[in-house]
Amino acid sequence: MSAYRERVHRTGAARSTVLRTVGRRERRSHLTAPRVPTVGIDIGGTKVMAGVVDPDGHILEQLRTETPDKSKSPKVVEDTIVELVLDLSERHDVHAVGIGAAGWVDADRSRVLFAPHLSWRDEPLRDRLAERLLVPVMVDNDANTAAWAEWRFGAGRGEDHLVMITLGTGIGGAILEDGQVKRGRWGVAGEFGHMQVVPGGHRCACGNRGCWEQYSSGNALVREARELAAAESPVAYGIIDRVGGQIGDITGPLITELARGGDAMCVELFQDIGHWLGVGIANLAAALDPSCFVVGGGVSAADDLLITPARDAFRRTLTGRGYRPEARIVRAQLGPEAGMVGAADLARLVARRFRRTNRRRVERFERGPFQTLLTPRGRAEDER
Ligand SMILES: [Zn+2]
Repeated sequence: MSAYRERVHRTGAARSTVLRTVGRRERRSHLTAPRVPTVGIDIGGTKVMAGVVDPDGHILEQLRTETPDKSKSPKVVEDTIVELVLDLSERHDVHAVGIGAAGWVDADRSRVLFAPHLSWRDEPLRDRLAERLLVPVMVDNDANTAAWAEWRFGAGRGEDHLVMITLGTGIGGAILEDGQVKRGRWGVAGEFGHMQVVPGGHRCACGNRGCWEQYSSGNALVREARELAAAESPVAYGIIDRVGGQIGDITGPLITELARGGDAMCVELFQDIGHWLGVGIANLAAALDPSCFVVGGGVSAADDLLITPARDAFRRTLTGRGYRPEARIVRAQLGPEAGMVGAADLARLVARRFRRTNRRRVERFERGPFQTLLTPRGRAEDER
């Protein structure tokens, strides 16, 4: 058993130290953060991804497991996270842990207020995990961590004003300005998916009608394709054949594949959701005026089939068009790992550089003959 794992199992000892450290270190900038590898964890609706990421955004090792079912207690999700971190710590130094969660995280980034796919309700996740893992922990919304990764290492590098839009089953969003994630007063800024774009439109799971994500997301794509297939429209013959008449088997990746192969209906569906994407982006430009929009998430795999109609609609809808510079609309570069990489990099802002030497000191101390190395100065470093 490694010294770290043993300390985690003994738990409690360094608790107050860890919590104080987290509070203070959050104000550090990425420029002054220690160049140490950290662990990033992305908790999505179906899977949990954990990885050790170096300061240049390279993934050193990656693990994944299924997300515990919604019916399970919050403790089960916590146990899953702890186990993944302990597993990675067998082979890597753990200096800090960053969590990107699909849910609302409060402005202090300590509590998950609500997560649609998990049993978390006002869950004090950061402190619970810091207590158990004995390293600084950072919690953030997964769209924020993905945006951070794209800004640091991906499509948004060098942009001072960036808005990220992730098209998955719904729409996630994040705002970055001058190297900072803008979270709003209560931590829930960037919920662009629930801006109303069609009064009285499609019903949304949030309880309202006509939300943007009902017109431009993976769900919208699949809903429209299934509707056409169910109506036995001649334009849908291709996709009906492909799924052998099982309309329930129509998925986003299948529509993307067929569109790439030139299926007219699937290309049109991407033109439709691309159009709505551009309209929504023009609205965001009117409010936020960023220099760059990064489009990520599973649906963005369609690339130009989606981005080209989005750019066209954006240009046609942008307020003040012709008299203002236009923001770039680009596809995200980091793929499904973006949330994990960003969580790890944000965790470096709370990481403790001395961890490696400190741990060596602990190991030597436990072996016996080097007890003098645990000097008062060493302790002071630990407290800092
Ligand atoms: Zn909604």
